Order: sequence, then C-alpha cells, then structure tokens
Amino acid sequence: MRKIIFNEKVLEEALAIGKEHLGEGNVADYIPELKKVDPNKIAISVIEDDKYINVGDCEQKFSIQSIIKVILYSLALENYRMDVLKQYVGVKPSAKPFNSVIELELSEKSIPINPFINAGAIVVVALLHGIYGDKTFDAILKKASEFLATDLTYSKEIAESEKASSFANRTLIYLMLSRGILSKNTNVEEVLDTYFKACSILTTTKDLAHMSYCLSNGGKSLNGNRIVTEKEARILRALMATCGTYDYSGDFAIRVGLPAKSGVGGGIVTASEDKYGLAVYSPALDSHGNSYCGVRMLEYLSEKLKLFIY
Ligand code: GLU
Repeated sequence: MRKIIFNEKVLEEALAIGKEHLGEGNVADYIPELKKVDPNKIAISVIEDDKYINVGDCEQKFSIQSIIKVILYSLALENYRMDVLKQYVGVKPSAKPFNSVIELELSEKSIPINPFINAGAIVVVALLHGIYGDKTFDAILKKASEFLATDLTYSKEIAESEKASSFANRTLIYLMLSRGILSKNTNVEEVLDTYFKACSILTTTKDLAHMSYCLSNGGKSLNGNRIVTEKEARILRALMATCGTYDYSGDFAIRVGLPAKSGVGGGIVTASEDKYGLAVYSPALDSHGNSYCGVRMLEYLSEKLKLFIY
C-alpha cells in the first residue's frame, strides 16, 4: 500500500480543470428525467482514513446509474460461485456501447459479456430475484447503503422515466429470454422494475467516496465493517479496471490509470489498493457515457499525485 496525500489545494486545482470543460459533453437524454439536471454541477470528494476533503457540489444528489452494477455483482458473488455466474454473465471487456444489442447477439451463446453493461446487470438482477424474491430491491438498497455508508433512497421519478423509455433494455431482456440465458419463467416486469429502481438510487460524491474507500481497503468500510470479502473486492476492482468505463476502459486506463466505474448520471467512483476513497461528479457525458469533466479531473489528480497503478 502506498500513502497518497491529498489536500484541498490539489482538489481545487482539479476542480478548476474540470470547470474549464463545462459545456463540453452532453447530459444523458435517452432517459427524459436525466435531461433536467443542471449540466454545470461539478464535485470531487476524497476520504483518507479520518480526513474528508470535498470541493464543488458535493451535496448535490444524482442517480447512481451504472455504478450500482458493481454492487449488484457483489451481491451475485456473495450468492453464487464464479463458475456458475459465468454461465450467465462473462468477464470480458466490451467494445460496444453499454446497451448494445448487437454485442449481445454476437457474444458466445448470447451471454452478456460482462456485468457492467446493461444486459449483464439485468441478468444479475434476475439471478438476485432467484435468491431474494420480492425483497430483491431491499437487499440491493441495504448493500448499497453499507457500501456508501449512508441510508439511501431512490428517485421514483427517475425510475418511472427509465421504465417509460426502456426500449433498449427490453430488447436486451427479450433477446436473453429467447436464447435461454434467462429462464422462460423470468418475471420480466419485476426484474426490469428492480433494475430501474437500482439505477435510480440517489447519491452524492461524498457517499461514493465511501464506496471507493471500501473497494480500496480490501472490502472494509472506513469504520472497519466488512462489506465484501477481500477476494470479492479484488474481483470488483479487476472488473472496474477492464469494464468499468464501458468501451472507453482502455483509454481510461491510460489517461487515469485506476479501476473505476462510471454511470450515465455523471458520477465516477475509483478504486485502488491505497486505502483512500475518491469520487467525482459532473453530469455532461462523453460519447461513451462517462462524465466528461469527471474524467479530466481524475486525469489531473492522477498525474499530480501519481495515483495511477499501471
Ligand atoms: N439505467 C441506465 C440504463 O439502463 C444505466 C446506464 C449507465 O449508467 O450506464 O441505460
């Protein structure tokens, strides 16, 4: 483990770099409710042992979106052996957008290639329904609240907006039903409702820094609670490194050099083995679905503080 020393000055510098890029990128508009967010919000949060540093709009709530896929997969790892899980969802990086139908169609046996694209996360939610039944969303919310070290809620408006515009996700789930990846008894509406609610969980960079800390501290939270095993934390970091920023993961590894998971809500949570937490937010996205300013702020911090691990 290396000791990385963050300070407010360097975070303010990174924030200023991010602000120079406000106006670039676009907020997600395929989910109508996400179009309403203010594109000029921007924030960075860091946790180092008992030191918190927050700059910018750190209290601003936004939907967690794809970042929840890390937590969904952690619940799957808790309940299924890896070899069983791999019959439903792979661990390969993706070369196509996160909701690509063609990638699912062309993948071996139409198994989603990783759990961090939509098809993969939907399969994981279906598997979790097999364990938790109608308490699945409660289990997800509980696990997310442990990871983020706070009581979380979800936005009904965003979940309903996702549901009303879920054409791509419906295509993916029906394709997986037709190929037998999902059992014919799958309750499609129940699985999709849970998935939309999970993506609509509201968070802040302050909360996400706790998730980052936990992943970077072998699965233990800041107050010492074990949230996932060391092995699970390692698997999650590995998947974040290879699949966490969609089909931009290779570029992200070069630019920032850290495992990370982004979401179309504009958050990015990082991971390392250096026992600090780091999360950023700004809702305008690049063409891959990653926060445009967020990537640039992380790139600056990584360069300045030598955060990169590759
Ligand atoms: N709820 C979003 C969707 O299903 C998640 C996408 C993302 O953040 O990558 O499209």
